[in-house]
Amino acid sequence: SSIPKIVILGAGYGGVLTSLRLQKELNYNEADVTLVNKHDYHYITTHLHMPAAGTDNPENARVNISKLIDEFKIDFVKSTVVQIRPQDRKVILEDGTLSYDYLIIGLGGEPETFGIPGMVEHAFNIRSINSVRLIREHIEYQFARFKREPHRTDYLTFVIGGAGFTGIEFIGELADRIPELCKQFDVDQSLVKIINIEAAPTALPGFDPELVEYAMQVLQKKGVTFRIGTAVKECTADGVIVGEGEEIKSQTVIWTGGVRGNRLIEEAGIETMRGRVKVDEFLRAPGHENVYVLGDNSLVFNPDGGRPYPPTAQIAMQQGVNCAHNLVASIRNQPLKPFVFSNKGAVASLGKGEAIGVAFGKKYKGRTAAWLKKAIDLRYLFIIGGIPLVLRKGKFL
Ligand code: FAD
Ligand code: NAD
Repeated sequence: SSIPKIVILGAGYGGVLTSLRLQKELNYNEADVTLVNKHDYHYITTHLHMPAAGTDNPENARVNISKLIDEFKIDFVKSTVVQIRPQDRKVILEDGTLSYDYLIIGLGGEPETFGIPGMVEHAFNIRSINSVRLIREHIEYQFARFKREPHRTDYLTFVIGGAGFTGIEFIGELADRIPELCKQFDVDQSLVKIINIEAAPTALPGFDPELVEYAMQVLQKKGVTFRIGTAVKECTADGVIVGEGEEIKSQTVIWTGGVRGNRLIEEAGIETMRGRVKVDEFLRAPGHENVYVLGDNSLVFNPDGGRPYPPTAQIAMQQGVNCAHNLVASIRNQPLKPFVFSNKGAVASLGKGEAIGVAFGKKYKGRTAAWLKKAIDLRYLFIIGGIPLVLRKGKFL
């Protein structure tokens, strides 16, 4: 047919925002839009530190895609993408093939392990509903095991590799959960250790030093031990090797050392840096006019500093809006609009009632920052699902 086919890969922040905008802006029969995602739900990645630690129910971090999109306007296909073939304008799924005229790649990132031995085999990652359910159950199991083998204090040592935002947000939640678990399993809390290991000379490298100091104080008060300027060198079945060969025994290593792009993109022959595509000003892959790349799969450089923007939900959402606009413009033979990132700041939670952040150029900490974090979370639910979603999935306290 002459109706252009748009295929969107991944229902994450970028893919969902593109879909929502397309279904609003496209006229009837102007394009065929298909959204492909591994699961029939979207996960609210920015909440995953909570279900991972067990301070919130995993159900609150996912939304059925059928509740988000209008299936009369967008076809949803629940499947896993196994190959992208730009030369044939096709996408190979585990159970079929799709042809496209325009492709949007928003498959999200993968953990970056920098080739550290044993990391893939032995460490946990915070990245999906399935991965956080596993962490939550595993942590509880360590408490139960310890009651059978009380000499194994390594069951109660929790190692978090990397003090970026993900690591910091997770330890804030875990520190809140520990007293509850100790009570439930009759474990002496002084035996439990949360150790956060960071290779850089500071936690949250690059973030405001005064707020980093505040965050570390809050977390240390909750019982977290920081090993700053210490690199994780290896992960084994018994724990981690750090620095100059020191072993820390632990049955629970959670790797939050960074993210890279999706390997399907490099396998497609598209040029990447650590799996990310340095997109053109319209968010397209270089040399592929009909392929847009969003979110953690893309690399957008700050026009003044020349450094890439960190991969966040914030930028992925703005890219989704821009991408939908440009798809509609392409179809209508109108000029494309360059993508310009409007950085609103960053707020990181430190557990219940505590957070740090920079927003609209101002610093926030403590309860005010925690409220700000909540407001950002509720705003997202409102953007994708309106008031009903805010009421169903929002946490207000
Ligand atoms: P994702 O949201 O990762 O979505 C990718 C989608 O693709 C998923 O639905 C996945 O199931 C699907 N998929 C993957 N592979 C396949 C395949 N082969 N076939 C089919 N489907 C596939 N950013 C912020 O701005 N603010 C925050 O407060 C914040 N908090 C965070 C907290 C945590 C704990 C973490 C881990 C990250 C946080 N981030 C935050 C970063 C943010 O979550 C990511 O940058 C964002 O999710 C990227 O969006 P995306 O659209 O690129 O991909
Ligand atoms: P990151 O890359 O930001 O942080 C990884 C950390 O691990 C770095 O501090 C790095 O120095 C450290 N590290 C790397 N190798 C190490 C080693 N061998 N040993 C010890 N430490 C090591 O990754 P992230 O925290 O997962 O964040 C990913 C993206 O998601 C970022 O862009 C972040 O801004 C965003 N995010 C935002 C929020 C928020 O806004 N609240 C929350 C989570 C994530």
